[in-house]
Amino acid sequence: MSKPTLVVGGGPAGLAAAHALASVGRDCVLVDKAERLGGAPILSGYAKLVPSGEWASDAIGGMVERVIGNPRVDVRLNTSVTSFDGEPGNFRVGLANGDQLEANAAILCTGFTHFDSVNKPEWGFGLFPDVVTTTQVEQMISSGQGVRCPSDGRKPERVAILLCVGSRDRQIGREWCSKICCTVSANIAMEIREELPDCHVYVYYMDIRTFGLYETKYYWRSQEEFKVKYIKARIAEVTSDGKRIIVKGEDTLVKRPITIPFDMVVHAIGMDPNVDNRTLAGIFGVELETNGFIDRKDTYSAIGQTSRAGVFVAGSATGPETIADSIAQANAAAIASLGLLEQAV
Ligand SMILES: Cc1cc2nc3c(=O)[nH]c(=O)nc-3n(C[C@H](O)[C@H](O)[C@H](O)COP(=O)(O)OP(=O)(O)OC[C@H]3O[C@@H](n4cnc5c(N)ncnc54)[C@H](O)[C@@H]3O)c2cc1C
Ligand code: SF4
Repeated sequence: MSKPTLVVGGGPAGLAAAHALASVGRDCVLVDKAERLGGAPILSGYAKLVPSGEWASDAIGGMVERVIGNPRVDVRLNTSVTSFDGEPGNFRVGLANGDQLEANAAILCTGFTHFDSVNKPEWGFGLFPDVVTTTQVEQMISSGQGVRCPSDGRKPERVAILLCVGSRDRQIGREWCSKICCTVSANIAMEIREELPDCHVYVYYMDIRTFGLYETKYYWRSQEEFKVKYIKARIAEVTSDGKRIIVKGEDTLVKRPITIPFDMVVHAIGMDPNVDNRTLAGIFGVELETNGFIDRKDTYSAIGQTSRAGVFVAGSATGPETIADSIAQANAAAIASLGLLEQAV
């Protein structure tokens, strides 16, 4: 019997890799440290996904179901990999729960960590309860509660969404663009306007990066159909007058100071490298790129190959990625792992 392939992380990427391998008759072991599969969209309770408009619980929940029901996928939850030794085709794997496994290759799909807004204290998170993050707004929508001010449960009449929180910010050591937050924010802005038609929604931005086809579907639609207002600004601070949250900054188009009160302020948080990446790099013997994401050694042929033969990587473990791109990379990494094993035969 051939050895299984180890897939670490059961988010969209890991679920896709496991399903791809099982589809071509390969066994795999899917290890996740969380108590359930689904990754960020499920664990953080995302609402409707960009760009499909499907609820995360349906779209990613469907991916979870087809993996859980697959006899070729051995799912191990609440555990992580503690040791990984050997060579392609013949690795020995130790798990934190004491289990020992054999594997022919590994695909790291360990994802990202949400930026923690307390690292941006001048923008009010952690100081004022009505300063929240995009993940909190996603949870308000997906739970059915609706968008409400956490301080007293009232419906907000004015909401500001601040882009690039924890991204493109050299002062806090995060130079990368998190790629999806402009589009996710435009989507959230439209959802708020749909639920609360009297609520004014402002998006504060440096640049808008609703890349590719998202420009029409999200950026222009949010303005033209949903009357979301965009302000190009440099934000100085977020304070409170005791009743409202005050956003102070400079409108960089007209070069004038602007101070606007809001009921709720939303941080569009970025995607940090997984906090486990240094540990994972040590265990699997793979290199990280300069920002701390897992480095890919090959862009055009063995997609997803890391610095160690037989160890592949896919999805947001490699840097900020969308769900669709994470899934595509996972399928590519699964094929690359099969190719490597064929060569070894
Ligand atoms: C607010 C917000 C909204 C978003 N909305 C969208 C959207 O609408 N559409 C879209 O395309 N993208 C969206 N994204 C991006 C989306 O979250 C990612 O593209 C997606 O989660 C990447 O999937 P992944 O499997 O690579 O990683 P993850 O979803 O992060 O999954 C990683 C998995 O690995 C597990 N893991 C981590 N470390 C270990 C370890 N050491 N050992 C074992 N298991 C481990 C985790 O428990 C998790 O299950 C959004 C991002 C943010 C921040
Ligand atoms: S996608 Fe938009 S909000 Fe996110 S980091 Fe890039 S520019 Fe900023």
